[in-house]
Amino acid sequence: MSDRRVRVRFAPSPTGTLHIGGVRTALYNYLFAHKLGGDFILRIEDTDQNRFVPGAEAYIMEALNWLGINPTESPIHGGPHAPYRQSERKEMYRAYAEQLLQSGHAYYAFDTPEELEDMRTKLTAAKVASPQYNAVTRNSMKNSVTLSEDDVKRRLDAGEPYVIRMKLPRQEEVRFHDIIRGWILVQTQNMDDKVLFKSDGMPTYHLANVVDDYLMKITHVIRGEEWLPSAPLHVLLYRYLGWEEVMPQFAHLPLILKPDGNGKLSKRDGDRLGFPVAPLNWKDPLTGDTTSGYREKGYYPEAVLNFLCMLGWNPGTTQEMFSLEELIEQFSLERVSKAGAKFDFEKAKWFNHQYLLKHSDSELASEFMPLVQAAGFDRSMEYVTTVVSLVKERANFVNDFMEHARFFFEAPSSWDEATLGKKWKPETQGILEGWRDALINTDDYSAAALEAASKAYLESIGVGIGQVLQAFRILITGLPAGPSMFEVCALLGKEEVGARFSKALEFTQSRFA
Ligand code: GLU
Repeated sequence: MSDRRVRVRFAPSPTGTLHIGGVRTALYNYLFAHKLGGDFILRIEDTDQNRFVPGAEAYIMEALNWLGINPTESPIHGGPHAPYRQSERKEMYRAYAEQLLQSGHAYYAFDTPEELEDMRTKLTAAKVASPQYNAVTRNSMKNSVTLSEDDVKRRLDAGEPYVIRMKLPRQEEVRFHDIIRGWILVQTQNMDDKVLFKSDGMPTYHLANVVDDYLMKITHVIRGEEWLPSAPLHVLLYRYLGWEEVMPQFAHLPLILKPDGNGKLSKRDGDRLGFPVAPLNWKDPLTGDTTSGYREKGYYPEAVLNFLCMLGWNPGTTQEMFSLEELIEQFSLERVSKAGAKFDFEKAKWFNHQYLLKHSDSELASEFMPLVQAAGFDRSMEYVTTVVSLVKERANFVNDFMEHARFFFEAPSSWDEATLGKKWKPETQGILEGWRDALINTDDYSAAALEAASKAYLESIGVGIGQVLQAFRILITGLPAGPSMFEVCALLGKEEVGARFSKALEFTQSRFA
């Protein structure tokens, strides 16, 4: 095993949007492959034609590309084991189903949906907890275990619909090692004779998945915990097909849990709690349902990767910020936890804020400029760069900038009367009028000079700045909080400050006098 080149795969089914849990699976596979100098493969598992959704594969490719975790082999990139779409590999699977039939590890079953339902009803009535098609119940069903060879042949020749089921031993312990979970023991009496192949010529997930992992020389299967119950079946398939020597190592990743820790994070939680659970916006072409994405919410791909990586993995240190290169260097499956990871949306925003602050002011200004223009404002890049430098600390996204910065582009149209009224005293009007005059009479419009002039004025009349600063801010910006008022005034300029101040003071005069 150890001398084989590391090859891992991300194997989504194109059934709709990609849940962030799937993105994390792709990321861990990517990190693992790159750390060990191996290959990261994208395989599209589209054998279930009923669940096929147009556009879903392109969505997956676009999401991986946006995040910068592209595969080296895929339906688009090609590769030595093409094709990478299971529907295009259809012809390859039958031979393996035949091999299992021949070696006695699989059998034909002709039961109709009604007969299967009937079996379940009877077993439920007999108080069987989980009714299964298994080593016991198969003996009373319509299959090549119970029917004569001639009967089976006649049905096949007549084109009767059938499935090929795996024939599990009645009582055997299946034992395998999971890199994250350690040794796993499962008894075959708790397992189903799963369907491997259908008469429409399509394999099911189990057969196609194992056959492709074998043919594509996959060395490690890194996937979500929801596939853990399938693993013992896959282990037996490797054994029965004679591939045990090259069976991949398994690593089943922990679930991503709802923010309150109760159960798996679902798409509906995102809609309900107002955060994205998909990498990109998605509109389901069949149902018309829409799902919002991290990209369109204004997240940086680096922030999404960083935050997703920490959902279930930790570096063993207090470091939280990781570039993709650092993640590749530090990642290991041994440090992935067994326990589910609680989704923390506030933390996701925090990560985006940290990445936002890593961008220079001029980069942020270029990102913000289209939004400035879309809002109908015409300002120089230099002006917008200064605006950005003053508001970026308060924003998690460039999309948030306007909310904090609108007053840099237009004068406020209202002033929060309730907040102003709280601290307003009979003498406040006069103090602020004097302050306005001081600012009108100041020629040097640097922030430092404005601060000095303001302090000198307030000191001369014996007023502490704390008593009037918030009123001053509201009158000039319309907001109760924000960046340094001296920086704000320096950027707005003398004329604008004078005009805004005077207009606002007319308002306060009319309300509070
Ligand atoms: N097609 C499966 C999925 O949709 C793949 C599971 C696996 O990785 O084996 O997730």
